[in-house]
Amino acid sequence: MAEAQQDYIVVGAGSAGAALAARLTEDPNTRVLLVEAGRASHPVSRFPISFGLLIDNPAANWRYFSEPEPNTNNRSIPVPRGKLLGGSSSINGLVYVRGQPLDFDTWAQMGCRGWSYRDVAPVFQRMESYVKGGDEVRGGGGPLRVGEVPDENPIFDALFAAANHLGIKRNPDYNGPDQEGIVKTQTTIHNGRRMSTAHCYLDPARGRPNLRIVTEAHTTKVLLEGTRCVGIEYEQGGRRVKAMAGREVILCAGAVATPQLLELSGIGQPELLSSLGIEVKHALPGVGENFRDHLNARIVWRVKRPELSYNTRARGLGLLREALIYATSRTGFYSLPSAPMLAFLKTRPELETPDVQMHLVPYAVKNPKKRQLHEWPGMTISVYQLRPESLGSIHIRSGNPHDQPAIKFNFLADPIDQRTMVDGFRLVRSIANAAPMEPYRGDEHSPGVEVASDEQILDWIRRNSETAYHPIGTCRMGPQANCVVDDQLRVHGIAGLRIADASIFPTMPSGNTNAPSIMVGEKCADLIRQGAMAQAA
Ligand SMILES: Cc1cc2nc3c(=O)[nH]c(=O)nc-3n(C[C@H](O)[C@H](O)[C@H](O)COP(=O)(O)OP(=O)(O)OC[C@H]3O[C@@H](n4cnc5c(N)ncnc54)[C@H](O)[C@@H]3O)c2cc1C
Repeated sequence: MAEAQQDYIVVGAGSAGAALAARLTEDPNTRVLLVEAGRASHPVSRFPISFGLLIDNPAANWRYFSEPEPNTNNRSIPVPRGKLLGGSSSINGLVYVRGQPLDFDTWAQMGCRGWSYRDVAPVFQRMESYVKGGDEVRGGGGPLRVGEVPDENPIFDALFAAANHLGIKRNPDYNGPDQEGIVKTQTTIHNGRRMSTAHCYLDPARGRPNLRIVTEAHTTKVLLEGTRCVGIEYEQGGRRVKAMAGREVILCAGAVATPQLLELSGIGQPELLSSLGIEVKHALPGVGENFRDHLNARIVWRVKRPELSYNTRARGLGLLREALIYATSRTGFYSLPSAPMLAFLKTRPELETPDVQMHLVPYAVKNPKKRQLHEWPGMTISVYQLRPESLGSIHIRSGNPHDQPAIKFNFLADPIDQRTMVDGFRLVRSIANAAPMEPYRGDEHSPGVEVASDEQILDWIRRNSETAYHPIGTCRMGPQANCVVDDQLRVHGIAGLRIADASIFPTMPSGNTNAPSIMVGEKCADLIRQGAMAQAA
């Protein structure tokens, strides 16, 4: 079967792809086909609580797993990714972080012209509608509503006081020029509802005659004529469909699926492709390499005042009370992002900017994969290194597009990452153990105070940490030979093919990765429009 030809085909309607398709179709003369493997929606996705409900739900989630690796005790770690319109922005933890100016200046310094903080700050600004209003830094009129956690809890006050006790300041806006400090979380939540890119970008664009959205349509490869990309092939309801692009195909399938699609199409490392019986159409050794993620260590305490922990408040009849609180004030358990407080801190005073991030949560879960609450009142502080050095890879293991790719994190391979995680862990303990926390903090449940030496802490991190769900970098942007796209997001050596998603990040942004992914989608729309204008002139 064949689709009517469109100007652009966008593969993947996630954080970046939805923003890109919506921006491109603002021009009524530009026709876009947006192809999404997942469903149009999930009934609970608009509620923030869906973070816990969809984290392992096949109706909205790809549910990948990593390869067992010795650095993390040979565990196969769950890798959830959103599979519905809005992609991972429809199932994520709703924390909103731009990153540090240094991140984007580093990209520019690595040869990505047009990606310094000065270049991308206006893009962040135009995509946001920040609850406290716009100014010269923050956006006030963009499609993406950015709120701030309204909830209060004596544990939050105690955590702020504990941090202050250690000389850590409260930062009024960590998405401004200075990220450092302890903060209330800014969120992609407005009026108690999730602000996914499906809602903020696609809903207003759906009625446009120049935007065609197909869902439950699994793209299996890009179609090449020589070194030009001319379209894609996708499967939908047992049919195989060819869709041709008059101008370009843009892959926005995310850091796991975008390298997978390139490899299935014969673009990648020649030895790997040949070994799997895939004809090499274009050698590009960087595909699937440069993979990074945040390794997240969760430290859990019992809480002395049970009524303050959601392990007590959201149990039995408490769940009904929380539902009522949510219905009447859009606060409480059902309205929370994955963490209502964050901290961005330096593990060494000589550092220029923070190198670790903490998520501070007034409850404790048994099993991060299922996110079931413990029976007893708890609290959690997790920590990850903001800019890990260790590099992993994501590659196909067969030519079957429905086989999961082999995800190798290679976490903690670099000694700097080991050092930073241990130091970050100690910082977490110092906040939790500071005097202002005394009335609230009970015994340390995990790992427990007996885990005390650097070796014991590192060993515990290896055995227990999980991903913070931020895979990036597998189709790295840059001019070097191991890069996959140039600074215009065009695939090196292939005409008519771009990539716009978290796979193009050359290095890890300092924070959660939804905002920078949306920024990439927005920026790709600019690059395409500028290119088209230059051609027309
Ligand atoms: C559980 C979880 C919690 C997270 N929490 C946060 C958070 O609190 N804050 C934050 O900033 N970030 C968070 N993140 C990370 C953030 O959401 C992602 O980094 C971001 O959404 C990535 O955007 P993307 O456009 O690269 O990919 P995605 O948003 O994942 O979009 C990729 C899209 O492509 C589709 N697709 C894939 N393969 C195909 C195919 N073959 N054919 C057609 N379509 C395909 C997918 O279904 C998906 O819709 C979280 C992620 C997860 C999974």
